Amino acid sequence: MKKPNIVILGAGYGGIMTAVKLQKSMGVNEANISLVNKHSYHYQTTWLHENAAGTLHHDRTRIQIKDVIDTSKVNFLQDTVISIQPDEKKVTLENTALVYDYLVIGLGFEAETFGIPGLKEHAFGIKNINSSRLIRQHIEYNFAKYNNLKNPGEELLNIVVGGAGFTGIEFVGELANRVPELCKEYDIPREKVRIINVEAAPTALPGFDPALVEYAMNSLESRGVEFKIGAMIKEVTPEGLVYEKDEQRVEIPSNTVVWAAGVRGNSIVEESGFEAMRGRVKVREDMRTPDYDDVFVVGDCALIINEETDRPYPPTAQMAIQQADTVAHNVKVLARGEKELEPFEPNLQGTVASLGHDDAIGVVFNDKKLFGWSASVMKKVIDNRYLLKLGGIGLLLKKGKFNIFR
Ligand code: FAD
Ligand code: NAD
Repeated sequence: MKKPNIVILGAGYGGIMTAVKLQKSMGVNEANISLVNKHSYHYQTTWLHENAAGTLHHDRTRIQIKDVIDTSKVNFLQDTVISIQPDEKKVTLENTALVYDYLVIGLGFEAETFGIPGLKEHAFGIKNINSSRLIRQHIEYNFAKYNNLKNPGEELLNIVVGGAGFTGIEFVGELANRVPELCKEYDIPREKVRIINVEAAPTALPGFDPALVEYAMNSLESRGVEFKIGAMIKEVTPEGLVYEKDEQRVEIPSNTVVWAAGVRGNSIVEESGFEAMRGRVKVREDMRTPDYDDVFVVGDCALIINEETDRPYPPTAQMAIQQADTVAHNVKVLARGEKELEPFEPNLQGTVASLGHDDAIGVVFNDKKLFGWSASVMKKVIDNRYLLKLGGIGLLLKKGKFNIFR
């Protein structure tokens, strides 16, 4: 019998965990498994805000795919997906094309720009290793430039972060730690630097526990973060950011506007003809697309409705990792010619968000609230647990976060 071709697109949390699960559960002769990713490495998206602020080197965040993939079972192709042709069971890559019997789409997220003028052209985004490294280097360049100009402007030292969701809050938390170091390094008085977080909703972290939100804002404000709450970003220009609050238009001069105000699924999904909402396919309970029995979606490109709230589950790494278990199981079942597919049932353990290296907030284990150092330790435990799951003790020791007293 011909071995089925299983193709996995993207080596983010969802894609790489699907590959790792399949390599553990299927024999070498059962299927041809291919994993396609733009880069030779998997990166921990959940650490990118640290790379962007410069509090963690990006080499800690990236993991060579060949270090976690068994290449005798999974063929890794470093290439870029251009489009998917589900009716022909074909994927077009930049350098070649692949045919599949079963496809897993795990192409991750992009920034959702909501058509805001100037955003694409003038704002930075915490999207991947390269975009995060650019933010770090850009901030440092502006600090370095400051003391080399006769009349330096405030735009060099105003760092504006759009959105106070979890990404925005985690990023300003890292900046609050990093800026004092940069000030020392570049001979700049701390009071000259502004870290400004602009949020449209009436509160930071809308929908999260109000007491923990208050804790987070107090902690960040005490370290020099300014919040503009109820402030809708309207435009980004070469000169800075424009927001509207109480019907007033306010401009903040800035060379460094970082957009952290929303994500969508990879646009390749829609462009390939899959029915999607902001790049996310509303999958069946077995994680397959509504229209194709041989196409699964995992991670941020998948949309699942939470029956209790009647709203989509937020796209998270936690969801992507759990979905990978179901996707890998179901792909294996189909590849073996069996029929019993299992439904995906999320088992969410809570949310923990960092506020810098030794502070955090979280709700875990059925509504237990954590804040401060204990939440920060919990965040590192979560990060380390993922490394263990992905690459065992070796990867944990190589890339784990152990310095809880940093
Ligand atoms: P991604 O992690 O986005 O990976 C997609 C992969 O596909 C990448 O390797 C990319 O290179 C590859 N790819 C993309 N396009 C192509 C192409 N055309 N061709 C080939 N390869 C391609 N969630 C949590 O649960 N906990 C957290 O603490 C947390 N913190 C976060 C912090 C930040 C700063 C951000 C931005 C997000 C955070 N999230 C967190 C959300 C979480 O990171 C995402 O939900 C998760 O990364 C989604 O995983 P994924 O597998 O769908 O794709
Ligand atoms: P988000 O959609 O969760 O938050 C975006 C924020 O930007 C919202 O508060 C929104 O009100 C605000 N916003 C939108 N448009 C705006 C505008 N024009 N002007 C001002 N503010 C505006 O996006 P995110 O924070 O990037 O998170 C993306 C996903 O990743 C979410 O599912 C999140 O839960 C997850 N995540 C989780 C963690 C964690 O668990 N620690 C950390 C980061 C991200």
